[in-house]
Amino acid sequence: MKIALWHNNADIRIEEVPEPRPGPREMVVKILSCGICGSDIVEWYRLPRAPLVQGHEIGAEVVSAGDAVRKFKLGDRVFIAPKVPCLECKYCEEGHHAVCSSVKDRLPGGFAEYALVPEALVETGTYLLPDNVSYDHSTLIEPLACVIRAQRLAGIKAGQTVLVMGCGMAGLLHVKLAKLKHCTVIATDINDTRLAFAKNAGADIVIDAGDNIPERLAAATGRRAGAVMLCTSSLAAIDQAWKSVDKGGAVVFFAVPPPEKCVTVPINDFWTKEIRILTSYYCGPPDITAALEMIASKAVMVDDMITHRLPLRDTARGFQLVLEGKESIKVIIKPHQAS
Ligand SMILES: [Zn+2]
Ligand SMILES: [Zn+2]
Repeated sequence: MKIALWHNNADIRIEEVPEPRPGPREMVVKILSCGICGSDIVEWYRLPRAPLVQGHEIGAEVVSAGDAVRKFKLGDRVFIAPKVPCLECKYCEEGHHAVCSSVKDRLPGGFAEYALVPEALVETGTYLLPDNVSYDHSTLIEPLACVIRAQRLAGIKAGQTVLVMGCGMAGLLHVKLAKLKHCTVIATDINDTRLAFAKNAGADIVIDAGDNIPERLAAATGRRAGAVMLCTSSLAAIDQAWKSVDKGGAVVFFAVPPPEKCVTVPINDFWTKEIRILTSYYCGPPDITAALEMIASKAVMVDDMITHRLPLRDTARGFQLVLEGKESIKVIIKPHQAS
């Protein structure tokens, strides 16, 4: 079978490897759709495991299963989480599924024609897709789950003003989810195309990220934002975020700047205003279940975010599209699509 082996963003090679065969408690799935995530192009984050097959937003069909697999059958349409937490350790109990101390197996990357699903993921990491959720839609389950988690941590609720900075795929999902929660949503980006997507996604106000955002925000809403969702790694955005958050509000680092950059926090100001700074990384099983339900019920529509569908041999081009971030929002690799 063919795989797209990622060495770095400028070096992705299509290679031939043996097709996997399942052990008694494992399955092999045929990958029909796999999204390129904003985190896939972050080299400082991914390079330590390179070369690797990336891709963790997977919609697939079960094509073979070991004798002991009972939960799934051939032909089942599934979404598979990239890893599953144990649900028993201290971190899982406290809801920090992403830092579970005993994650055993990971799903091999989805930029490949097939993938072996290890036992732990067959047991608790594989989700049946309802008929009305296509493989392409299923690539948004994991991103939406991460967004659901971040907004839960921030305590976002009806009536709040939410500022979403950065309108790539994650930012747009934040816009949609905050609108679903009846918030006033302001979205910023440096790119006009993305601002148009944000408007379509339901943002009440869109602001060019080059403008003075705190001023524009105050002029438009009369106040600052109860929650700021940072979906960009730009230091300038962080600086604007500090000045845009309201007393008692929260700034959520959904994306972070590269490790060599230093972020200065106005901590004295935040202390007297009770402003929280949060990070949100990945998601947990309850978030995945919630995301799947929202996509299936069309509470969150995802069709409009899919801008590109490419065959496996064009994986490098897909990464380039995401890196440039000009015209693309969601780029999906379809390993069995001819062209
Ligand atoms: Zn992702
Ligand atoms: Zn755990």
